[in-house]
Amino acid sequence: MQKSSIHPFASTIMAWYAEHQRELPWRQTKDPYAIWLSEIILQQTRVAQGLPYYQRLLAAFPSVRDLAEAEEATLLRLWQGLGYYSRARNLQKAAQMVMRDFKGSFPQTYDEIIRLPGVGPYTAAAIASFAFDEAKAVVDGNVFRVLSRVFAIETDIMSSAARGVFTSLAQSLIPAQDPAGFNQAIMEFGALQCTPAPDCSVCPLAVFCQSNKEHRVADFPVKSKKTKVKEIQMDYLVIEQNGLLLVRERAENSIWKGLWEFYLIEDETEWPAFPRKALKSPPVHLLSHRKIKCDAWHVQVPDNFALAIPEGYVWISPSDFESKGKSVLLLNLITDNLDCPILQDISPTYL
Ligand code: SF4
Repeated sequence: MQKSSIHPFASTIMAWYAEHQRELPWRQTKDPYAIWLSEIILQQTRVAQGLPYYQRLLAAFPSVRDLAEAEEATLLRLWQGLGYYSRARNLQKAAQMVMRDFKGSFPQTYDEIIRLPGVGPYTAAAIASFAFDEAKAVVDGNVFRVLSRVFAIETDIMSSAARGVFTSLAQSLIPAQDPAGFNQAIMEFGALQCTPAPDCSVCPLAVFCQSNKEHRVADFPVKSKKTKVKEIQMDYLVIEQNGLLLVRERAENSIWKGLWEFYLIEDETEWPAFPRKALKSPPVHLLSHRKIKCDAWHVQVPDNFALAIPEGYVWISPSDFESKGKSVLLLNLITDNLDCPILQDISPTYL
């Protein structure tokens, strides 16, 4: 195909990318396993935060087999601090599926890759194009923003029709001779140039960009009101006796399944009333549809008191608790209260 057949939008952003791209390790490889790992980490995570996790996970699990055979607790521990732990669990399920259904060889086409747990249309297109040069256009938040502005698309990006509309447009623009370069370029362009508050005066697309020509950049992307955020209150007791802590591993099917926590106050009607010392509350924890407020108290149980242990809880030393996977909320609670001696012994290594 001749260069002239490339849409001017594609050639412009690809020329811009050649000059402005950030050097990131997952861009220096064609290994689908490493690219997949980076894409899962970068879902809901900024590049600067995700980079050390990428390096740490790749070092701990250099191959898809290593990840498939890893202890879940080890994986969660390495994932600690990134949040959205279902990503880590799906990562392992997908690695096991690669070993079982694809004989240990990473699937090579979009249609196969999208069968892996935790992989949606965006991630499948990213892996298929970056690793195997399949002409599948990626559509993420950056792509929504860039295309909606450049082509003044009025489709509400929160609507069910949006993905189809933007995918068709991106697919019509992707050059067959370099789909990986185009996908990288459009996402990087959205991340660095066509940002939520862009400087259009330095943009190479300014003369081409419809919303800029109409002085309506701020109107795009069209986005309806967010879904209502549910507020949740969580109250913890940091219960200490004989230098041990009363903790549990979350067993129920929630986003924090497999992570460890202090005593969560749900029903303490049967409990003796020990004095409590209020701890500093960690910052409000924001998830996509939840806002979690947390308060906590330290309780010192006398050494010789026979406390009835609530179901599911165990006594554990601070150093053993340190090695368990914990939610970001709990890590924040610990680091905000290092003046409490027993919490000093739980150093959150992966913050
Ligand atoms: S001119 Fe402004 S709105 Fe249009 S693509 Fe460039 S940065 Fe984005």
